[in-house]
Amino acid sequence: MNKSDTAYGGREAGYYEVRPDHTVVCRLCPHECHLSEGRQGLCRSRTNRGGKLYTLAYGKVCALHADPVEKKPLFHFLPGSRCFSMAAAGCNLSCLNCQNWEISQASPLEVGCRRIAPEELAETAACSGCRSVAYTYTEPLTYIEFTRDCAAACKARGLKNILVTAGYVNEQPLADLLPFIDAANIDLKSFSDDTYRRISRAHLAPVLRTLLQMKEAGVWMEITNLVIPSVNDGTEQIQTLCRWLADNGLADSPLHFSRFFPRYRLSHLPPTPIETLLQARQTAREEGMQFVYIGNTSLPDAEDTRCPHCGKQLVHRDIYQVSPHRFSGICPQCGQPIPGVWT
Ligand code: SF4
Repeated sequence: MNKSDTAYGGREAGYYEVRPDHTVVCRLCPHECHLSEGRQGLCRSRTNRGGKLYTLAYGKVCALHADPVEKKPLFHFLPGSRCFSMAAAGCNLSCLNCQNWEISQASPLEVGCRRIAPEELAETAACSGCRSVAYTYTEPLTYIEFTRDCAAACKARGLKNILVTAGYVNEQPLADLLPFIDAANIDLKSFSDDTYRRISRAHLAPVLRTLLQMKEAGVWMEITNLVIPSVNDGTEQIQTLCRWLADNGLADSPLHFSRFFPRYRLSHLPPTPIETLLQARQTAREEGMQFVYIGNTSLPDAEDTRCPHCGKQLVHRDIYQVSPHRFSGICPQCGQPIPGVWT
C-alpha cells in the first residue's frame, strides 16, 4: 500500500474495497460509505481519489492540550494525573448536541491544523509530564490509521493510551487498534436504536458490540451517558441500559451520567434537571451498577468513589481536584478490591 502523502495532504487509508467502477466502499465503520470519485464519507475525513480511499486527517492535529484525566472522564484510571489530549477533525456521528461541532463536523481540509508525525507527538507528550495520551474531542476512530501509529509510538515511550469515543466502528479495525489502548471512555448515548438514529445518525448495536470487544480485550473502560431532557431521560430506558451493562459483566465499569446543557442543534432544550440525574443514579444502583457518577453539576459527593461493600469514601473529587492523590485500589476499611488502574 502506498502510504505517502498526496499533494492535497491525504494518505492512503486501510479498510476499504474497490468496485469495478472505481467507487470504493469504506469498511471502517458501520456506515460503510460507498464513495464515487472525489466524494467524502459521512465523517468528512476519508475520500475517494482515483479509485483509492484516502484519510485526510493523517498527521493533521487540530487540538492539543494537557488535561486532567478526570476530564475524559476517567475516574478509576491513574487519578490525579494529566493526559496529553489530541484531536484531528472529523466524526462519523452527527450528534445534534455536539460540544465540539466546529472540529467534529468538519473536514481536516477545512480546519486549521498543525502537522505532526506520530513520533513527534509521542516525544512532545513524553516531555509534557503527562502519563498518558488521549485521542479525544472528535472521533479518533475515523482517523484510525493516525490514532494507531500515534498510540504505537506513545506506547514505545511508556505512555498509556486513552480512547474517548462513541464506539461506532467495525470489529476488525477495532481489533487492530486495541493492542495499543489501555483505557477508554465510551459514549453510550441511549439504549434506544430509534434515539440513536434521531440524535446521531447511528445505530445502537455496533456500540454494544464495541463495549463487549473492549472488555474482552482487557481495556479499562468507563461509560458516559449524557442525559438529555425529553430525548433519553426516561427511567425505563436508563433501567434497560443499566440492566444490559450489568448482565454483560460491566456492573463494575464506572458509569458517568452527565448533565446536558443546551447547545448546537439542541439549544432549545433546557439543562437536565438535577432530580432526573439523581433518579438515573438511583436506577443504575438498583440495577447493580457499582460505581455511578454524576458529572457537570456541583452536587456534593456526585463524583466521589465509595466502596460498594462498606460505603467508605475512597476518593474525593472537587471539579478536577482529587484527594487522596494515591489510592491503593483496596478499601482501607473493609479490604474490598476496587477495580481500576490506580498506580
Ligand atoms: S469511517 Fe467515514 S468514510 Fe468510512 S464508513 Fe465510516 S463514515 Fe463512511
